[in-house]
Amino acid sequence: MATPLSHLAVPLALTAALGPDLVPPGLMILAIACALLPDLDALGLWLGIPYEHPFGHRGFTHSLTFAVALAAVGSLLAPAVGAQPAIAFWVLLVSAASHGLLDGMTNGGLGIAFFSPFSHRRHFLPWRMIEVSPLSPSELFSWRGLRVLRSELRWVWAPCVAVALAGWGGRSLLG
Ligand SMILES: [Zn+2]
Repeated sequence: MATPLSHLAVPLALTAALGPDLVPPGLMILAIACALLPDLDALGLWLGIPYEHPFGHRGFTHSLTFAVALAAVGSLLAPAVGAQPAIAFWVLLVSAASHGLLDGMTNGGLGIAFFSPFSHRRHFLPWRMIEVSPLSPSELFSWRGLRVLRSELRWVWAPCVAVALAGWGGRSLLG
């Protein structure tokens, strides 16, 4: 995985780029949840589900199917958080799908079962420049952790800040 902190970058960038009219705070919280939920499967490692199992880490919960399902369920809550359902669906879909896509750019672990449950084959993207995050939190606070954070700042946060600024700039010009 990339670190949980960096999975926040995409929903936060979308929120900043689209602005509070399209992404009210409640939708932002749902988007953050969608971006983090796929890593719940890491609990399976402690429950004895093997990494390479269809429900193992980077299995079904990292698939595009799961992202669509999360977005569909989450968008039902759109009226409750003051968002338009169609906008909510796309914001949640991009947030949820970004999780597997970012993990697919890491340089370690097994690939991502993007097409689960239709195919359990694991894939990486052609670009694997993100340093893989250790699964144990204690290892994260080490030199290796610093290397991971540096790579995520460069490959995740910097492009997300650029998207946020571009969206914010565009809205300011139009508004
Ligand atoms: Zn993950």
